Amino acid sequence: MKSLWSDREAEQFRGDLGLRVYTSRLLGRDKSLVLHGGGNTSVKIREKTLFGEEETILYVKGSGWDLETIEPQGFSPVLLAHVLRLAELPSLSDPEMVNQLVTHMLKAAAPAPSIETILHGLMPQKFVDHTHADAVLSVTNTRDGERRIREIYGKRCVVIPYLIPGFDLAQFCAKEFRARGTKDTVGMVLLNHGIFSFGETARESYERMIELVTLAEEYLDSKRAWSVSTKHFTAGTADANAHATLRRKLSDTAGVPLILKTASTERTLGFAQHPEIARISQQGPATPDHVIRTKRTPMLGTDVDRYVAEYCRYFGEHAPKAKEPKTMLDPAPRVVLDPAFGLAAAGRTAKDTVIVEEIYDHTIDVILRAEALGGFQALAPKDIFDVEYWDLEQAKLKKGGKPQAFSGEVALVTGAASGIGKAAVEAFLARGAAAVGFDLDAKIESLHARPDFLGLRCDVTDETQVRSALEKAVLAFGGIDMLVLNAGIFTASRKIADLPTEEWRKAMAVNLDANLLLMRTCHPFLKLAPRGGRVVVIGSKNVPAPGPGASAYSASKAALNQLARIAALEWGADGIRINTVHPNAVFDTGLWTEEVLAQRAKQYAMTVEQYKTNNVLKTQVGSRDVAELAAEMCGPLFAKTTGAQVPVDGGNERVI
Ligand SMILES: [Zn+2]
Repeated sequence: MKSLWSDREAEQFRGDLGLRVYTSRLLGRDKSLVLHGGGNTSVKIREKTLFGEEETILYVKGSGWDLETIEPQGFSPVLLAHVLRLAELPSLSDPEMVNQLVTHMLKAAAPAPSIETILHGLMPQKFVDHTHADAVLSVTNTRDGERRIREIYGKRCVVIPYLIPGFDLAQFCAKEFRARGTKDTVGMVLLNHGIFSFGETARESYERMIELVTLAEEYLDSKRAWSVSTKHFTAGTADANAHATLRRKLSDTAGVPLILKTASTERTLGFAQHPEIARISQQGPATPDHVIRTKRTPMLGTDVDRYVAEYCRYFGEHAPKAKEPKTMLDPAPRVVLDPAFGLAAAGRTAKDTVIVEEIYDHTIDVILRAEALGGFQALAPKDIFDVEYWDLEQAKLKKGGKPQAFSGEVALVTGAASGIGKAAVEAFLARGAAAVGFDLDAKIESLHARPDFLGLRCDVTDETQVRSALEKAVLAFGGIDMLVLNAGIFTASRKIADLPTEEWRKAMAVNLDANLLLMRTCHPFLKLAPRGGRVVVIGSKNVPAPGPGASAYSASKAALNQLARIAALEWGADGIRINTVHPNAVFDTGLWTEEVLAQRAKQYAMTVEQYKTNNVLKTQVGSRDVAELAAEMCGPLFAKTTGAQVPVDGGNERVI
């Protein structure tokens, strides 16, 4: 492992807190050191109060911040003197400890300080860095991990047996540090948890961390336990229907819709097909705080009932031994390992699934290296339970934020690269759904760079392309819960007498046939939607009130409307709702070129401006207006409505 320190980069950061920000980010950049909110850092700074008195402030990473992206305001400024007084108490509960720390901060708006704050405060050095380095975890999660750690570090690190993070651990570390620390001591290893380094400057503390972790890497390498990989694997047979069925079962178990992301790679397949998988995967996480994301063990195979029974047994065994009554979390697994598809990660949002997948990817390394070293051995289930059911996590659970309306659900929008489709993707993302966009235009692929969006280039009139794109979507997110049939074409104004058959057929192919294909192909997935499937058809004012010169368009949209009404009748029994919006004169879409607009305005003897607001309310209808209505139609407001047609046209005399 190499130090990422650069004098040129460091110059941009001012003062001790600035450099604390810089080296924290350097740690965060390396995922083999810390993952998603893991690890923490601190610095002790002398400052003058408003009254001119000098005090030492402990700036420690606040909860909710990632080291990789931390800013100065991500550090909680706590009065060090108070932290040190607290450390003298014979005991302190976790909620009271957090209360004491929060009430002794210098900034009211600062985040709650890390649970490891007292430990940071008790370390005499100015800078303290703490990570959950893969290499160190690989060594400590073995049968004789402690002996090996002592062999690697000698006097350089004080070695602490596993204790749950919090007050007792901080006190114990301080005592051990005083008793066993020497002038050569530059760090501390917490068995089965992670590693600390210290220094008088940000650079010294950071580079000591790199040096200490490198020693563990070199040790693993010397034992042929560093470059490990699963050598053999047979190709996966991931199947979209099976995946959606599993996701439905997991969602029912969790009591809320979950996103389920498959990762079928050589690595995950090789691991899931490992001959010893039952032994090595069922022991526990690499470091206890992963349990919050991944649960204690992955599910092997797809027998959800068996996993749930085992989870209930684990809860039933450990909950009665806890000091306070515990509320059982949902028993659905968050990691699934299966020889057929490798790994699948479950979570409340697409972002959660990415985090779960990444954590487990590192867990695979830790397990395989520990195996090469003599045998992976995780912490006892009781220790993992204590972290999973830790007071403060339970408190968060009771408070519970209100999840977003479509959290855990998946929306598919066709014609999503521009206009109403693009706005619909935004409306669904804003409501917490994962969104899939299909479009002919390649720009769909880069429409949003975020984990909850998947843009796929797809000609919706081509069955092979639709099937392949749907499969990708389902494997990425677990299913299709909401479908917005938006892709359409509006051919140039032409009287029937002059209408070429080709033009008529093209309108029918895109506006009608493609939607039949999409409905038919999505039906099995909509049927599996945890909250019931929903379809929104983007119709047209031309359905109830057609205009001359638009026969192909109006006839194709009218036929689609009829198709939707029949689907409402046929699919009600499957819990699928289908409703139609009839927009009119939405001019910020790809259909309306300047030329078409001018032509239509002329036909009605109006200026373009008059034509745009030519409705009862004299208002302009935008893509966003239509998209928001489409999204709402998938929500609870329309829960009892199917087969409806709602105009979104500013009021049209011929429709009214
Ligand atoms: Zn830690």
